[in-house]
Amino acid sequence: MPITRATEPITADDETMRRALENAILPALLPALAQATGDFSLLREELRPPATVPGDPQGGMTPEQQAAARDLAFDALKALRDGGASEEQRSIEDDVRRVFDWMTASPASDDYIPLLLEELAPAGQDPRAPTWHADDGVDFRVAVIGAGMSGILAGVRLKQAGVPFVIIEKNEDVGGTWLENSYPGARVDVQSAFYSYSFAQKIDWPNPFSTQPVLLDYFRDCADEQGIREHIRFNTEVRSATFDEEACTWSLRLQPTGGAEESIEVQVVISAVGQLNRPKLPDIAGLDSFKGPSFHSAQWDHSVDLAGKRVAVIGTGASAAQFVPEIAKEVAELSLFQRTPAWFLPIANYHDETPAGLLWLFRHIPNYMHWYRFWLFWTSSDGLLPAAIVDEDWQPQDRSVSEANDQLRKLLTMSLQAQYADRPDLLEKTLPTYPPTAKRFLLDNGSWPAALKRENVHLITEEIKEITPDGVVTVEGDLHAADVIICGTGFHASHFLMPMKVTGRRGIELTAQWDGDARAYLGMTVPNFPNFFLLYGPNTNIVVNGSIIYFSECEVQYVLGCLRMLLEDGHRAMDCKQQVHDAYNERIDAANLQRSWGVSDVNSWYKNEHGRVAQNWPFNLVEYWQQTREPDPADYVFL
Ligand code: NAP
Repeated sequence: MPITRATEPITADDETMRRALENAILPALLPALAQATGDFSLLREELRPPATVPGDPQGGMTPEQQAAARDLAFDALKALRDGGASEEQRSIEDDVRRVFDWMTASPASDDYIPLLLEELAPAGQDPRAPTWHADDGVDFRVAVIGAGMSGILAGVRLKQAGVPFVIIEKNEDVGGTWLENSYPGARVDVQSAFYSYSFAQKIDWPNPFSTQPVLLDYFRDCADEQGIREHIRFNTEVRSATFDEEACTWSLRLQPTGGAEESIEVQVVISAVGQLNRPKLPDIAGLDSFKGPSFHSAQWDHSVDLAGKRVAVIGTGASAAQFVPEIAKEVAELSLFQRTPAWFLPIANYHDETPAGLLWLFRHIPNYMHWYRFWLFWTSSDGLLPAAIVDEDWQPQDRSVSEANDQLRKLLTMSLQAQYADRPDLLEKTLPTYPPTAKRFLLDNGSWPAALKRENVHLITEEIKEITPDGVVTVEGDLHAADVIICGTGFHASHFLMPMKVTGRRGIELTAQWDGDARAYLGMTVPNFPNFFLLYGPNTNIVVNGSIIYFSECEVQYVLGCLRMLLEDGHRAMDCKQQVHDAYNERIDAANLQRSWGVSDVNSWYKNEHGRVAQNWPFNLVEYWQQTREPDPADYVFL
């Protein structure tokens, strides 16, 4: 699947255009047409999307607003077809400001403008590409660990900067989580236009929310198009990384699959292993005694035919919410063990294909995809962050943490009440009792309630006591007989870099320094571990705002800035100052305690064994971008 960018000239007749407009996402269409035609009067006050309904692609525009917007857009499309795009020379910054003002009903803050100019770079431009180049033949090599989303990205930027590198990947292909999680129904929960690299935008995503095979193809294509594959050593796991203080190099011990262990020396290590990399099986007595097949959702055993079988599923989180509705159709009986119900965000088009009309519009209107990306950036990202912020005067705080959070709770509760109107028993079991946003929402268009209502699906909320050879036994003593057990029980998220052994200055081991409480400066650098950079490290996960690809792009920009500093200023290594790291983490911790996920005591993978939120970034997206644009040499000791 090639990565498509081009915009084709419009030759369609009026009827075709009218039909295409039926599928338009209007809050992004009007800005795109305004920019293409130069007619900014299209951005009418009375057509501004109120953006009050989370997940509504039309931003809550009324049917009347939508009809008026389509009429306007039709005239603009005709003008574009018959007269071509505007040739007026305008500054992109002015365009961005005008659109921002219209979309958000507030003047564009100067904080956002440079970020938006990057996000909205015209097709084919890549403003985040490094503007410098390492000297030819430089004696400097980087090892990237992992060829998933962020490892490929690191490779792209290192290649652009001419820095020699190797990517070491334990699997036989690129894709990371999108290679490994092949369970039925796997798809992303961020819109494809946003869950994609800024420099590799596609205008023909087959679904608004990509399925796992589509994303795997996308990452494969990116690796191929950007010439990254030839830098990757597949089927090789990094066992350990050890810093040699004398030479200022890292020695990596590699274990090729089925081969003899070897080692390589590099100047810099970039860990791109992800947070959700090592599947976590539940700590339930007797799991090993089960006589049938059992597996984790991230290690789906496709050789096990589930048709007609009795299947027990443990966990009702993000993965189970996707595979349960799929397998429920074929299994004989499904016993579903729920510990904590999830808040579901209704997204009507979650499982849809991209409508043909919308694809046509993306192909024919210049920068429509980019404005769509901006619309998503605004509405599905920081737009929801305020609802996660704790109002200390709000009482009680167990079910909601502020008025905005409570409004969201009521909205989502109404949605669940409507979906389970015919099954009050299920409503009682599935209505969460913790604040929305304390855990990541699960997106759904009704497939979860439909699965739960099936006669062959049994939702069990009693605690599990043990697993026996025949199935799962609850504390009440009931045996739920099963032929297969599937664990959708999450990952060892707090154990960053597990099971790698990383040894830094003075022989300090990273796991010992962290002692179960992983911290880093900007999520990337850790004192005593010079030239070791983490991507998707501590406190860079987002619960309600943004796409993790956005974070990776910020991180890689920062890391490349560090490499530039090392190479241009003639330093061998840089080590984060302890006080800089500590002050940063204090600020992060204080803010996380002011977020729903910090105050709520609901189970989540965001808190580590010390009860600290070690995963999440508590601020808005622009702040991370600002902090990571370029490194400050004052934050580091140079060796
Ligand atoms: P998860 O959302 O953390 O869900 C794990 C489930 O297993 C929870 O329901 C948990 O209950 C339950 N569980 C764990 N241990 C248990 C035990 N001993 N007994 C009974 N139940 C147990 O994990 P996940 O589904 O693997 O997803 C993890 C993260 O991956 C998500 O938050 C998301 O960031 C990402 N993800 C994204 C997508 C997507 O984009 N659509 C899909 C899958 C995963 P408690 O809630 O009570 O702990």
